[in-house]
Amino acid sequence: MPDATLLPTLTTQKAWIGGHPLDNGDGRTFETLNPATNQALCDVQISGAAEIEAAVAAAEAGFAAWSDMGGTARGRVLKRAADLLRARNRELAVLETLDSGKPISESETVDVHSGADCLEYYGGLAATLGGEHVDLGAEWNHSFFYTRREPLGICAGIGAWNYPLQIACWKAAPALACGNAMIFKPAELTPLTALKLAEVFKEAGLPDGVFNVVQGFAETGQLLTRHERIAKVSLTGEVGTGKKVMADAAKTLKEVTLELGGKSPLIVFADADLDNAVSAALLANFFTQGEICSNGTRVFVEAPVKDAFLEKLVARTKAMRIGDPMDPATQVGALISAEHRDKVLAYVQAGVAAGARLVAGGGAPEEPALANGNYMAPAIFDGCNDEMSIVREEVFGPLLSLLTFTEEEEVVARANATPFGLAAGIFTRDLRRAHRVIARLQAGTCWINTYNLTPIEMPFGGYRQSGLGRENGRAAIEHYSQLKSVYVEMGDVDSPY
Ligand code: NDP
Repeated sequence: MPDATLLPTLTTQKAWIGGHPLDNGDGRTFETLNPATNQALCDVQISGAAEIEAAVAAAEAGFAAWSDMGGTARGRVLKRAADLLRARNRELAVLETLDSGKPISESETVDVHSGADCLEYYGGLAATLGGEHVDLGAEWNHSFFYTRREPLGICAGIGAWNYPLQIACWKAAPALACGNAMIFKPAELTPLTALKLAEVFKEAGLPDGVFNVVQGFAETGQLLTRHERIAKVSLTGEVGTGKKVMADAAKTLKEVTLELGGKSPLIVFADADLDNAVSAALLANFFTQGEICSNGTRVFVEAPVKDAFLEKLVARTKAMRIGDPMDPATQVGALISAEHRDKVLAYVQAGVAAGARLVAGGGAPEEPALANGNYMAPAIFDGCNDEMSIVREEVFGPLLSLLTFTEEEEVVARANATPFGLAAGIFTRDLRRAHRVIARLQAGTCWINTYNLTPIEMPFGGYRQSGLGRENGRAAIEHYSQLKSVYVEMGDVDSPY
C-alpha cells in the first residue's frame, strides 16, 4: 500500500510568471481533486486578464534574452532540465498520480520519463537548427540567398488532463529549442505538475519569463488564443475545442497546432501472433484507464480468429487489478472525474441498449475501499456494429468495441469510415499486407505489430479532424519556427527605369 509519508502537502497554487509564483490578487480559486477519493488536493488561483498581461510581458522579456542565445546554450538548459526531471521522477510521479488518478506504476515509468526524453531530444536538436545557403549561379551574378530559421515569439500551450506533465514537455521542449517563449495553461482538472516543470526549468537555468504557467478554465485559454501578441497556440484537447481555438486564433492569424481526439482502428488479421495482438489491444484500450487520444478502440478481428482472440482478451482483462492509483500493484486507476466516469458509464448503457454484448467489466467495482473514487472495470463489447455510438464516438475511457471482418478491402473501408484520423494499428505476419494496408489507412500515427508506442523521435499527430501539425521528431520544429529568406545581390541592380 502507499506510503503516506510520500504524500505532499499542498498549499494554494498560483500562476508562475516571470520565474516566480504570482498571486492573482482577486482571490478567485478552484479546487483540484484527487480522482481516487474526490477529496480536494488544494486550491488553485484562476488567472484572469491581469495575469495574462503579466505573462505576456514576462514572456516578451524572456524571449528577448532566450532567442539571443545560441542553440548549444539553449540545448544545455533543456538537457539539464531533463536530468532534473529524472532525478525528481518519484516526487513528480506521485503528484501526477494524485492529480490524474493514473496508476503510479505508469506515471513512474512513462509520464516523467517521456517528458524528460522530449527535453533531452530537443536539447540535442537545438544546436543543429539553422537555414540553408544557395548560390544562384552565373546567370544571377553569383548572387545568393540564405534562410534563417527564426522563432515565432510567444507560443501558448494549452493542455489536456490525461498526460499533464508529458503534454507540457511535448509543447515546451520544441518551442524553447527554437528560441520561443511559452505560456502554458494546463487543464483545470490537472493543474499541478506544469508548475513543477516551471520550477525545474528555473533550476536548470532557463531565463525568467521563458516558460510561464497560467491556470484556469476555457476563459483563461481564450485570453491566450485571442491575444494579439501571442504568435502561436498549440492545443491538446477535444475536436470541438480545437475548432473553437482555431476560430479564435484566426482573428490574429496565429499559427495553430491541434492534437485532438480519435476513434482509431486496431486491425487483427487471422495470421497475427494472437498473444501479441491481445497484449496490444489491452494497451490500446486500458492504459491510463483508457484516457488516451490515440487508443485503438475499434478492434477489428478477422472472423476465423475472433473467438480465440476474444477468449484471451476477456480473461486477461478480468485479471487486471483495479485499485488505489498509489498502490504499485494497481493496473487500472481512477477516471479523471465523477462526471467523466458517468459519461463513460452512459456509453456502456448505450452499447447495451443498442444490442452489443457486454462480455467484461463496464460497472463500478464493488470494493468499499474504492467507493469514493471514479473507478470503473474495463469494459469489452462483442457483437458491435459500425453504427453504434460506442463504435463511432470517442469515449475516452476503458471501453473496447470488438468488430469482425472477412476481407482486407472491407476492413480498410470500415476503418476509414470516421471523421477522425489520429492513429491506426495492424497485426499480421504478412509483410506485404502490413505495408499495403497501413498505406491506405487515413491516420497520422500508425503501428505495425504493436500499438501506442510514441518515441519522442517519431512525429505524432492526426489526419482529418484529429488535428493539424505534428508534435515530436524533427517535424515539430517546422511548427515552432519560421523561415526568413535573405537575397544577397552580388552584381549591379538591373533596372529598366
Ligand atoms: P478539452 O478540449 O476539454 O480541454 C483541453 C484544454 O483546452 C483544457 O486546458 C481546457 O481548459 C482548454 N479549453 C477548453 N475550451 C477552450 C477554449 N474555448 N479556448 C481555449 N482553451 C479551451 O479536452 P480534455 O482536457 O477533456 O481532454 C480530452 C480530449 O483531449 C480528448 O478528446 C482527447 O482525445 C484529447 N487528447 C488528444 C491528444 C492528442 O495528442 N491528439 C492527447 C491527449 C488528449 P479546461 O481545463 O478548463 O477544460
